Amino acid sequence: MLRNEAKQVLRVTLMIHGGAGAGGPDLDRAQRPGCFSALKAGWDVLLAGGSAVDAVVASVAVLEDDPGFNAGVGSVLTSAGGVEMDASIMDGSDLRAGAVALLRETRNPVRLARALLVDGRHVFMAGPAADEYARQHGVPTCAPEDFVTPQQRQRWQDAASGAGGTVGAVAVDRNGHTAAATSTGGMDGKQPGRIGDSAVIGAGTYADDRLGAGSATGTGEEIIRLNLVCAVLGSMRHGGDPANAVPRVVPLLRSVGGTGGMIAVDRFGRFAYAHNTPHMSVGWMRTDLDAPVVVL
Ligand code: ASP
Repeated sequence: MLRNEAKQVLRVTLMIHGGAGAGGPDLDRAQRPGCFSALKAGWDVLLAGGSAVDAVVASVAVLEDDPGFNAGVGSVLTSAGGVEMDASIMDGSDLRAGAVALLRETRNPVRLARALLVDGRHVFMAGPAADEYARQHGVPTCAPEDFVTPQQRQRWQDAASGAGGTVGAVAVDRNGHTAAATSTGGMDGKQPGRIGDSAVIGAGTYADDRLGAGSATGTGEEIIRLNLVCAVLGSMRHGGDPANAVPRVVPLLRSVGGTGGMIAVDRFGRFAYAHNTPHMSVGWMRTDLDAPVVVL
């Protein structure tokens, strides 16, 4: 153990985000209930002694089912008017990972990412074959139209920018294992076939018990170019506190013309978030707190 870690005690922790962006007056109504529901779903898993991986899946799946977020139902539309979803997950205890992209029929992309992690044969799958993999592995699918909400269809018709945000979660379980997951409909108006950071292990999602776990949101091209989550976790390598690393690295996004933010936790449950956008939805719960906190 490093000297600056000697005094740390393990605190079971869950942190979620609902995306970074411009914010707006309707955000509170659209996202607050979903943030609390997602925290409850993941926290119930951790309280019952479940793993960090199960907790982040539970939280992210709730947010995917909530039309107030840009993931699963309520995803933004591509320039062609369809939904193409990306997601990824990583287990910090053994570095197993699963990533999926360009999904059109998988009901909860995070569950497919998790199926890949468990299967272990491949890390990254995309497109119709990935949706087919979901069907073959008992991950529920649905019609592509089921993801398209009237609000997102209207925005697409008006060529207005999309609302809602990418979602993600990080957790530390009672065994000190970490996990991270991220899920998104991507950037609104994106070209069909475009894949963002949320499907890229290292850029949008990463977990390693020796460092911590992180999930990013924002302009995916720049997040990929900076390998943002790994850049932050790497700077926590020698027992660094996320409260120092996250606010120091996230502003670098600006240097490559990007906007966004991220959440991160270390293996003791120290956590932080930062963004260079006007707004980012976040929430957390930890064993030393009386109640979950949501900041919109
Ligand atoms: N990072 C996501 C992407 O580029 C979008 C977002 O987080 O808002 O696909």
